[in-house]
Amino acid sequence: MSFFERAVWKLSNTPDPFVDKSPKPLATPSQIPIPTFTLPSGESSTCSSITSISSASSFWTSPAPARWSARYIPASVRNNVSKRQVVVVVCLLLALLVWIIPQPRSWNRQVVHIAVQQPGSNPYQALRSASQTTVVKKHAPNPMKWLEHNSNNKHADNHKMGLLKSVPSLGHHSAKPRAALISLVRNLELPGLMQSMRQLEHQWNRKYNYPWIFFNDEPFTEEFKAATQNLTAAKCYYEVVPKEHWSLPDWIDEGRFMNSLEYLGAIGVGKGWMISYRHMCRWNSGFFYKHPRLKDFDWYWRVEPDVHFFCDIDYDVFRFMRDNNMKYGFNMNILDDARSFPSLWSRTRSFINAHPEMIHPDADLDWLLDSHNSGDYNNCQFFSNFEIGNLNFFRGEANEKYFDWLDRGGGFYYERFGDAPIHTLSVAMFVPKSEIWFFRDIGYQHDINRHCPPQSSHRCSCDPTPIDENFYRLVPLESPQKKPDDTCIRQFLGHNWLDKKEGWSQAAERAFGGDGYHGYVLGGQDEF
Ligand code: GDP
Ligand code: MN
Repeated sequence: MSFFERAVWKLSNTPDPFVDKSPKPLATPSQIPIPTFTLPSGESSTCSSITSISSASSFWTSPAPARWSARYIPASVRNNVSKRQVVVVVCLLLALLVWIIPQPRSWNRQVVHIAVQQPGSNPYQALRSASQTTVVKKHAPNPMKWLEHNSNNKHADNHKMGLLKSVPSLGHHSAKPRAALISLVRNLELPGLMQSMRQLEHQWNRKYNYPWIFFNDEPFTEEFKAATQNLTAAKCYYEVVPKEHWSLPDWIDEGRFMNSLEYLGAIGVGKGWMISYRHMCRWNSGFFYKHPRLKDFDWYWRVEPDVHFFCDIDYDVFRFMRDNNMKYGFNMNILDDARSFPSLWSRTRSFINAHPEMIHPDADLDWLLDSHNSGDYNNCQFFSNFEIGNLNFFRGEANEKYFDWLDRGGGFYYERFGDAPIHTLSVAMFVPKSEIWFFRDIGYQHDINRHCPPQSSHRCSCDPTPIDENFYRLVPLESPQKKPDDTCIRQFLGHNWLDKKEGWSQAAERAFGGDGYHGYVLGGQDEF
């Protein structure tokens, strides 16, 4: 029973001390005492004598001048509900209305976390890519406007607007996205996962209650289930990955695979010697979205054990993705160790040649190609341990064909193809640039890589990081791997993010011992 129903129930079932509710027979004219008036002349008269012009009987049979209550409220209610009760119910209704009607934005108590200082100086505006800012489609979604209107936890489950969720026309709400937090994790990683969950629940999901779905290549222990369910009010699912999604395909030559494990292990490619790591990268590249549990979901947010979420997130991230027609969201865009995927780009190029029609007309691959290196892949990747994406995109024909193409080539086992560069290339080829979102506002750390939004300390418990932080952290500067002229994130953002200080040259900076990435006008820590 809702609060309102309870209140009404209580009112209608509590005897009102001011009203005697015992049924009374209706008075007849003869029982009614007739008031006596004294006329100015001193004569005494009665009402009945005054109204003798109209007969007493017609007085009682013709209805009294219609009172609205008489007209609209049934007699049974009129006779049983006191005025006092009516007043209380009306007050309750009014309070309810005030409670649920959307407030003008000026009433908002909290500062909207993306402060728009002046028109045109929207901090995120500068973060949008060329195609997003220059080509303004007529009915294109406006993510910045969306954020302005939908922050302050407007769609939170426990928020007042939640009451109207099922009435789209009243609350301009549509149904909650079919979305889940997903995590591939081992039983022994429970402590690390609990820490990731605690932070994400605290910063965000306790307000939105999206379900958690845990995947494992073996069954989860009861301890794992109990401990994780204990950390969230949302529903948790525990799924085992089907064997056929986590085993060597029959077209793989085992000997060649063993050589690769030995070789990549020997040269120090991260986890290059681990068989399970190869299965994991393949599953995250082409199988996670095929799991039957995700059949009824459209959106996912990937969460790993031992990661950190530093900032309060005050909007429904999945609604943001859906309402703005986003397909993929990231918060770090950094260089990957190219030794793990020597053939990835040539295989991708051959895919493009074989299926040119699959490349989206609004796709932007330029930011991933190195003009100083024969137009090859520059090894930039969306760091996919954090990603928020659309499952239907991954299930779609283009991504599936691309994944199969790579999988048939054996790169997950003869090399160590990672899901990060593969998601990056797939999204870049098959998704318009405007449907890829940089979650600059979500402070996050995975191992040695940390991203902290600029000047948002009122919401974040981390020090703002420059935008280029992490660029080559996975590939040491001294590594012979060729690095692109500009950092990955700046190539993605383009525009004035590529502007250099006057008189600066990369060669000169390097000659003086710098890394060659300190000539930018915008630092990214404090631009808003
Ligand atoms: P890294 O981030 O590239 O260093 O790789 P991780 O070791 O963190 O693995 C990536 C994700 O896959 C994490 O969520 C791990 O918990 C998960 N993972 C990796 N290997 C396995 C495995 O063999 N079994 C299961 N169930 N999860 C795994
Ligand atoms: Mn990890």
